[in-house]
Parts: sequence; C-alpha cells; structure tokens
Amino acid sequence: AAVSVRQLSQAIRQNPIEVIKQLMRNGLMANINEVIDYEAAAKIAADFGIEVRPQAIRSAASRRKKPEHEETKHLPLRPPVVTIMGHVDHGKTRLLDAIRQTHVMESEAGGITQHIGAYQVEVKGQKITFLDTPGHEAFTAMRARGARATDITVLVVAADDGIMPQTLEAIDHARAAGVPIIVAINKIDKPGANADRVKQQLADHGLVVEDWGGDTIAVGTSAKERLGIDDLLENILLVAEMEDLHADPTLPGTGVVIEAEMDKSRGAMATVLVQNGSLKVGDIVVVGETFGKVKAMFNDQGKHLRKAEPATPVVIMGLPVVPGVGDTLASVDSERQARQILSEKKAVKKPVSVSLASLHEQIASGKVKELNIILKTDVQGSIEPIRTSLEKLATDKLTVHIIHSGTGNVTENDVMLAIASHGLVIGFSTGVESGATRLADQEKIDIRRYDIIYNLIEDVDKALKGLIEPEI
Ligand code: GDP
Repeated sequence: AAVSVRQLSQAIRQNPIEVIKQLMRNGLMANINEVIDYEAAAKIAADFGIEVRPQAIRSAASRRKKPEHEETKHLPLRPPVVTIMGHVDHGKTRLLDAIRQTHVMESEAGGITQHIGAYQVEVKGQKITFLDTPGHEAFTAMRARGARATDITVLVVAADDGIMPQTLEAIDHARAAGVPIIVAINKIDKPGANADRVKQQLADHGLVVEDWGGDTIAVGTSAKERLGIDDLLENILLVAEMEDLHADPTLPGTGVVIEAEMDKSRGAMATVLVQNGSLKVGDIVVVGETFGKVKAMFNDQGKHLRKAEPATPVVIMGLPVVPGVGDTLASVDSERQARQILSEKKAVKKPVSVSLASLHEQIASGKVKELNIILKTDVQGSIEPIRTSLEKLATDKLTVHIIHSGTGNVTENDVMLAIASHGLVIGFSTGVESGATRLADQEKIDIRRYDIIYNLIEDVDKALKGLIEPEI
C-alpha cells in the first residue's frame, strides 16, 4: 500500500516542496508524483507533528466516495455498467468488439448483434453491461446532463505507447466522477510492448498497480489476439462485487437515454439503459421533456422483450419525438401523472453554477463546500506552482480541488467537466476554443484567463473572501 507525495501533502496539508525536503532529510529522493509507502508517509507526517493512521492517508488518497448502500443491501445485485476510456488508437473500439465477439450471451447465441449503443455479455453466469461509445467525452457529457450511467471505467493504455494526454484526461474525468478504474494494458502482442513502463507511468499519476503494492487492478490484454479478455471481465466482476450494486426490479422502471435516432419507418427509437426497476411494454414513460408509451422494446440481440430489468440496455419505440442523450426516463401510472411531472420538472431550477464573483456568497450560504477547478496552462511547468498555491487557499469552510489540469487550450471537454462537477475553468497563458466559449456561455460556466500567476491566485483568494469585483 502506498501514497503519492502529492496525496500525502494534501492529507497533512503541507506544501509539497516542504514534504519533498523532509523526505530528502530522511534519505528519500522523490518527486511530487512519486509513490512512497505508508510507513515512510507516516514518518514524514510525524516529522510535521501530525500523527496518522495509514487508513487516514489511504482515505485522503482515494477521494472516492463509497456508495451509500445501507438501505439497499437487501436488494438483488444488478450487473455493472462499464465504459471504456483511453487515448485515441489505444484500442478501445477493438477491445469492445473483442469482448462482444467472445462473450455473446450464452442464452442468446444465434441472435443477430445489433449496435444499439450498449451491449451485455455473460461471464460465469453473471452479466456485464458495456456502453458502446468509448471515451471520457461521452461519459462526462452524460454527467453534465445529470446522468450517472457508469459504474466502472476500463482505462485502455497501449503497452507500446504508454500514457498519453487523453489517458490523463480520462483518469481525471473518471476520478472526478468517483468511478473506479481498471486498467487494460493493451496491445501486449506488439513487439514494442512494455507493460512495466506503463505501470511506472500509472504510478506517477497515483494509480499504483496491485503487484506493486497499490490497489489499482491492471490486466494485460490484446484486443487483436484476444488475450486477457477473460481476465479483464473477471476483474470487472470483482470490482462490481466490491461496489455492491443493487437495484429493485419490482419498482417501476427508470433509466437514462444513451442513444436516440429517428428511423424512417419505425419513428423515434431510443436506447435506454434501465437503471432501476423494470421497464415494460405498455408503460407510460416520461423522457426528458416529453412522454409516450413503450409500444415495443428489443435488446442488443434484436430480440423483442416484454420486460427489461436493471442494467439492461433496450431500444424502445413509441416516443413522440427523439429524446436527448442523457435524458432520464421514468415509468409513471398515467398520462395525467406524466403531464404533472413534466410541469413540475419545468419549475425545477438547474443548480447554480459556481463563479468567482458569486463564490463568497455561495460559501456563506453553505451551497458550495468545495471549489472544483479545471486548470489549463501553456506549459507543464506552470501547473504545479499554480496547483500548490491554489490548494493552499483552502479554508475550513471550503476545500480547493484541481480536478483536472493539462496543457493546451480550454476545450469543450474541459467545460463539460466543469458542468458535471460544478466547477470553474482557469486558463493560464492559454486560449479558449470557440466551442468551449459557446458551451460555457450557454451553461453559465466561469472561464477565467490569466497571464500572471500572482493575479490568478489573488483573484481566487479575493473571491474566497468576497472581495472580488464583479465582471463587467
Ligand atoms: P481506439 O481509437 O482507442 O478506439 O482504437 P482502435 O480500437 O480503433 O484501435 C486502433 C488501432 O490499433 C487499430 O488499427 C487496431 O486494429 C489496433 N489495435 C487495437 N488493439 C490492438 C491490440 O491488442 N494489438 C494490436 N497489435 N493492435 C491493436
């Protein structure tokens, strides 16, 4: 078990530079991303006059919130829903294909695979649902719409290429959502494959694999040669078990739209991931801003279903219009109830977005307890000093988290992450893509741009104290 120097610094609220110096005094040379064991971490903490139990560091290190499942424990388990993420060309699509081809549901053998946006496989009698649109973009776009569809992330890293910018983005997006990550070190068939290098890079970013004493599961795979697929699937089931995913199939069905289109002959078709309860043919459903009746329903094998249980992806027909991806679905008793729910929905205001100008007020009213920042800079070297300075501004009423940092322009993806995490975006000596500006304006996301670190830090500090000038 281990912790990175950054995580340790955060846990004991010390400047990482001081922590690194202290490590050096103890004969350990480590950079901020380096991982040290708990004993060393506890020793350093003690040097700062802080007594820690390993567990305290561990929980500070994994900011993941455990799902609350006390009241759902007696309910049946449901299959996990998995999204595959990773850098372009590392093999996400091919891995999804390999899993589908090797594990067509035994009971459905002979069925014709339909691409409906998600599919289910069966492993040792247990089902796993895969969302078919890989990438953290789709994942965070769903979250930005308020939908949480994914239980587990499979992070694909090509063993010959190693961690790349989008790999890091994917890690941050998954972490921001509190979704556990399983790593598939892919393309192990290639001559240039180097799994150990990938493991080192993962450790540098706080994901220490199990055989190195950490708690990140990593599996070597070849989507091309179909190696390691079973191992990956079994590990997904293992993580699912730890996550304790329950649902109640006796309730009316609820879910989320993961794909939708207009079919010339069949009308609006929507792929819905049932998340709780059971969805049935004949159900009246409220979807997004409309309602309709489920006239027919089929699964990823093209098989007609009368009933779909939790974690099942199904195509439904019968909606009057094509719903939006990320829209929620709920079965209701009657058309009257559907209309009532829709009118209530309209009255519900969206959660206020965080902005520097309103931050103080939001903290004072207790609406905001953590400030989530997406930081983009021109060069890598600017990230650490800004991160360290910003995190030091935290008070007992507010924590400051840099949930994602990277170099380059502010992208639409960054804004999506800000929407999904109720955060704001800071660009340091970098531009903003036009799509990002548009989305930010539309969703009222604050994008702040600076060229001088001092001004950046001072502005956030002022905002925390309620001293910031409103923007003109
Ligand atoms: P994506 O962009 O992450 O979805 O990547 P793709 O699945 O499209 O794969 C990118 C390229 O890598 C394609 O040419 C694949 O055939 C190839 N590829 C994917 N997985 C493997 C693998 O395990 N081994 C080898 N040798 N090639 C692979």
